[in-house]
Amino acid sequence: MLNVEDIRKDFPILGLSVYGKPLVYLDNGATTQKPRVVVDAISNEYYNVNANVHRGVHFLSQKATELHEQARETIRAFIHAKSTSEIVFTRGTTESVNLVASCFSEEFMNEGDEVIISAMEHHSNIVPWQMAANRRGIRIKVIPINDKGELLIDEYKALFTDRTRLVSVTHVSNVLGTINPVKEIIGIAHEHGVPVLIDGAQSAPHMPIDVEELDCDFFAFSGHKTYGPTGIGVLYGKEVWLDRLPPYQGGGEMIQHVSFEKTTYNELPYKFEAGTPDYVGSHALAVAIDYLSALGMDNIQEYERSLTDYAMQQLQEIEGMRIYGTADNKDAVISFLVGDIHHLDLGTLLDRLGIAVRTGHHCAEPLMHRLGIEGTVRASLSFYNTREEIDALAAAINRLRQMF
Ligand code: PMP
Repeated sequence: MLNVEDIRKDFPILGLSVYGKPLVYLDNGATTQKPRVVVDAISNEYYNVNANVHRGVHFLSQKATELHEQARETIRAFIHAKSTSEIVFTRGTTESVNLVASCFSEEFMNEGDEVIISAMEHHSNIVPWQMAANRRGIRIKVIPINDKGELLIDEYKALFTDRTRLVSVTHVSNVLGTINPVKEIIGIAHEHGVPVLIDGAQSAPHMPIDVEELDCDFFAFSGHKTYGPTGIGVLYGKEVWLDRLPPYQGGGEMIQHVSFEKTTYNELPYKFEAGTPDYVGSHALAVAIDYLSALGMDNIQEYERSLTDYAMQQLQEIEGMRIYGTADNKDAVISFLVGDIHHLDLGTLLDRLGIAVRTGHHCAEPLMHRLGIEGTVRASLSFYNTREEIDALAAAINRLRQMF
């Protein structure tokens, strides 16, 4: 499968010590560490290529443009999109969802129309819809979950009306780890003629993605969670939808011709890419994706699944352990509380032992309300994590539990 010992050598930061303890980095849901090739790609581009893209006739500009457009092709292949016209560069998942919420609602939603989201959404797939709702008078409907943290599909089916215009759900929950049956969700929406946006922030880094096979209409993910740099992300959109949406922001790049009377817009995907793009970020993201593809997304998924199973077993043995999110189909995210220890105390003390986890509501406050808690401790795993690190986490929690 994967040679994790060798892989770890590609990530210099994993060799750090914090407070004199070897770093155990289990905050991959928030952001992933970068392999050396990605960091090198960034410095190499600034040292040897840097020039603004697209309009330059000179050597460096053409070279930078080539890298930027090759990156689009790498991403197209990574998620199996039909065409690079369907790959829009954004700043991340958040901007991708905002783009769809803003443009789709402007073009296709009127007062009384409805959007369906789920109870386990990240704030970035809730707030943009609320903002659109305030502007357009639309309603937000929410798919409920069961106590294992799985979407209730029958309840989802019952939410559709003739006013439903869009479904926007997460592929994998960043709190519960639930892998949602998005193919089924999309199929049901399409039976009603309703398009679907998938928030892939927590799925693209962990499993093979095939947007054609899923038949989703939009798919969003972030570079920094996919072992690439911060500040770059992707919105995939089917050409038929992107063609019909109005532009998101105005400026350079997104235009064909401008006069003071009238502007015509650029072809896809540039219509949605106003201003100088993050051409260094796009290339570095492509390098990250090449790195992942060389490991094999299937191998990554298989390894992480077995590590997650191991972590679930180890953690469940701890006295007073309560795990939030026990879906049958679960990804490498484990949220928990232990006894009556406050999540912030547990996270802070784990940090002192060198273990990086996240605490709090994880940008999913409505989900916390549903679970009847304020926050959790969250360990989120990557293919560079090991069973020894899981053992270190379990031992540390046990030690702290006894201390309390
Ligand atoms: N959706 C989910 C499920 C996430 O986990 C996150 C990041 N925690 C986001 C959206 C937002 O991603 P970003 O901050 O990279 O835009």
